[in-house]
Amino acid sequence: MFTILSDGYPVHIGENALQKLKDYLQQNTYSQYFILVDENTLQFCISDVIQNVEILKDAEVIETESGEENKVIEVVTQVWLAMSDLHADRKALVINLGGGVLGDMGGFIASTYKRGLDFINIPTTLLSMVDSSVGGKLGIDLGGLKNQIGVFNFPKGVFIDPQFLSTLEPRQLKSGFAEVLKHALIKDANYWNEVKDIDLQEFEDWTKIIHHSVEIKNQVVLKDPKEKGERKILNFGHTIGHAIETYHLENFKDFYLHGEAIAIGMVVEAILSVEKTNLKEEQLNEIFTCFNRIFKLPKLDKKLFKEYLKLMIHDKKNSEGKLSFSLLSNIGECTWDVFCNGKEIEKAFNQYNKMIK
Ligand code: NAD
Repeated sequence: MFTILSDGYPVHIGENALQKLKDYLQQNTYSQYFILVDENTLQFCISDVIQNVEILKDAEVIETESGEENKVIEVVTQVWLAMSDLHADRKALVINLGGGVLGDMGGFIASTYKRGLDFINIPTTLLSMVDSSVGGKLGIDLGGLKNQIGVFNFPKGVFIDPQFLSTLEPRQLKSGFAEVLKHALIKDANYWNEVKDIDLQEFEDWTKIIHHSVEIKNQVVLKDPKEKGERKILNFGHTIGHAIETYHLENFKDFYLHGEAIAIGMVVEAILSVEKTNLKEEQLNEIFTCFNRIFKLPKLDKKLFKEYLKLMIHDKKNSEGKLSFSLLSNIGECTWDVFCNGKEIEKAFNQYNKMIK
């Protein structure tokens, strides 16, 4: 069992995490509990929580539909209305029981309802355990663009029980693992060597991985909570990844999961890193081999490069029309505010396709 202290709140990781939640609720009084779930966490996770934390047996459960397409203001409004109908007051606690979609949106709902209620996170996907439940970025998508509306705000605690991963679909586990690989690439070469050969079908020691990844994310976030500088390294792979994720979410049924899009983004941005920040060719090849083994990287349709570029212009990380990236100078080292133009990006997309064979 590990506990990491973040910006004024603890992150408990391990099989006793729900006991820690029980202790927290014994020490803190709330007028009501609202557990936000989606259909999957309602099916697979909520009974464990209620069995372990008896005080929650009378909690109000509010269900939203899973999926990135539901991380939108219409769903937020439905939850605000449900809370209002149930007379939620400012002393109520919101409990986000789910993956990154539910955590980002539930934290936003709690932070804005009646000018802000306390909330806690019980992340149930690998992605939310290693990344999104920590760091205070909350929000929703707007008009198909990711995370355009939101706030920075912190939960009262994060309670991570890796047991929840046992019901997660393998594709979702892989998607979350992309963020683990990102943490290693941007900050810790030894960690990269530890994780790059992991066989996800066999692997079980998730507590250790979650602990290491949360530690990396937390260190970065504590130094730069509002993303003025170093926190931008957490965006490695995301400038390109978000554009791909957004385009396919809007335009195709067969879309990429967040981590799958970010995995492609990290490889293309590693290619840019060779050009712009002196990443070595052999390191690029090592990164490509790892991502290709795990994600079976797809070739990208050349006709879409311009569409992806258009979406990148909307990305919050850009200013004055220039495209800003966080790129690797080495495995385990990342720099930020590296500006690339459209030609350089298209060239990197072409090289990515050549590497796929
Ligand atoms: P998700 O929340 O959509 O969850 C993936 C799927 O798994 C859903 O269908 C969900 O219902 C299901 N699920 C959740 N827990 C389960 C369990 N224990 N067993 C079975 N099924 C389960 O996706 P995600 O990958 O967790 O999160 C992606 C989101 O996170 C994106 O919106 C992304 O933008 C966001 N994100 C935010 C941050 C941040 O710092 N705030 C960082 C990275 C990603």
